[in-house]
Amino acid sequence: MDFGLGQREEALKLEVREFAEREIPETFIANFLDEESRDEDWAFSLSISRKLAERGWLAMGWPQQYGGRDASHLEQMVFAMEAAYRGIPGLSMGVSGTGWVGPSLMLYGNEEQRCKYLPPISSGSPDGVWCTGYSEPNSGSDFASIRTSAVRQGDEYIVNGQKVWTSCAHRARWCWLAVKTGLNGGKPQDGISLMIVDMKSRGISVNPLLNYSGEHIFNEVFFDNVHVPMVNLVGEENRGWYQLMKSLAYERHSFCGLSYGAARRILDGLVTFAAETRRSGVPIARDPVVRHRLANLAVELETLKMFAYETACKLGEGALPTYEASRNKSVADHLLEELALAGADILGACSQVERHSKLAGLNGLIQRQYLMSPGTAIAAGTDEIEKNIIGKFKLGLPRSY
Ligand SMILES: Cc1cc2nc3c(=O)[nH]c(=O)nc-3n(C[C@H](O)[C@H](O)[C@H](O)COP(=O)(O)OP(=O)(O)OC[C@H]3O[C@@H](n4cnc5c(N)ncnc54)[C@H](O)[C@@H]3O)c2cc1C
Repeated sequence: MDFGLGQREEALKLEVREFAEREIPETFIANFLDEESRDEDWAFSLSISRKLAERGWLAMGWPQQYGGRDASHLEQMVFAMEAAYRGIPGLSMGVSGTGWVGPSLMLYGNEEQRCKYLPPISSGSPDGVWCTGYSEPNSGSDFASIRTSAVRQGDEYIVNGQKVWTSCAHRARWCWLAVKTGLNGGKPQDGISLMIVDMKSRGISVNPLLNYSGEHIFNEVFFDNVHVPMVNLVGEENRGWYQLMKSLAYERHSFCGLSYGAARRILDGLVTFAAETRRSGVPIARDPVVRHRLANLAVELETLKMFAYETACKLGEGALPTYEASRNKSVADHLLEELALAGADILGACSQVERHSKLAGLNGLIQRQYLMSPGTAIAAGTDEIEKNIIGKFKLGLPRSY
């Protein structure tokens, strides 16, 4: 069995590396969702996003008619891994659009919606920036219990309710919104619909929620009698739950390449640090505890890569991942957390210093990862939820609740 990449993928990796060396300052750290916080990072990410789009990289797996270049899912995965490894920004901001909004529209949107919404995403335009409105104050893992409602009035829906933890809502042009449309009896899962909402609509207010490192990534979003044209319904009314299970698999899959790249960057940094840094005159890489810890992380990283390739190949064969995307997310989250902990131990006090300081170990990477790990492990489904999915779809276990 040949697990190696083909010439095409190797050439792509090289191109991405050259792009990063030319375009990304060494001190710039792109980390999961970080770029959404500060205006200057956001502006820089947008400019890079456009350059990625010019090369056809932003949505490379999409059909050409929507701005892609008909690349394979494997190529797309290789691109995401390499771009994240090289610290290229402009991927996370596009990730809602390229990661799950676009693929979902291709799966269950209509042609008019595809023609209208896909090209701005694949071209890296600010009009292609999306946020995702699923979670509510009392509905996270228990997504079927959402209460934001959309009631039909003529050829519009009137939307009322509140979403929370909405990443990028303060930057987004569109919201990929889950609402309750079937309020009368039946299974809660059967009353959910999915719609596209213009973030400039009257009646929407966005309140910032700063995370514990003081960054503005997510928000509360309030909907007060917001008018949404019926043509913005995606797929079938009241079938949103079933559609969204597929979108969530895409979402988890799209994080996998980014997590792999980020993890490989940290591991490489720690290996170099351990080889070059001496304690009592001896490189710390000689310490068996440090060596074994790094070796264990390398094994996990390789496992994640194989899982990511396998899922990409499955998608390429036309199948949708079910448990695979959850498995990959669970492995990636654990690996990133372990890397942050290992980094904190190996770098010591330097691991706590923020980027921009000359004292920051690994350019502040460990500090960022340490603070971001718990959040990344919750976004798109907590580990318990991913394990429930693996239990059901891989092991055939009965539901847990
Ligand atoms: C960085 C970040 C970005 C995010 N971005 C977005 C976004 O853009 N849009 C959006 O809609 N949401 C977003 N979220 C919200 C995220 O989807 C939810 O936080 C997540 O689904 C968990 O929901 P909750 O916070 O309500 O926790 P809860 O669902 O209340 O879970 C609390 C705890 O109970 C456990 N638990 C719950 N149910 C079960 C079960 N059945 N079996 C076992 N254990 C269970 C959970 O694993 C967890 O440990 C984001 C979150 C983070 C951290």
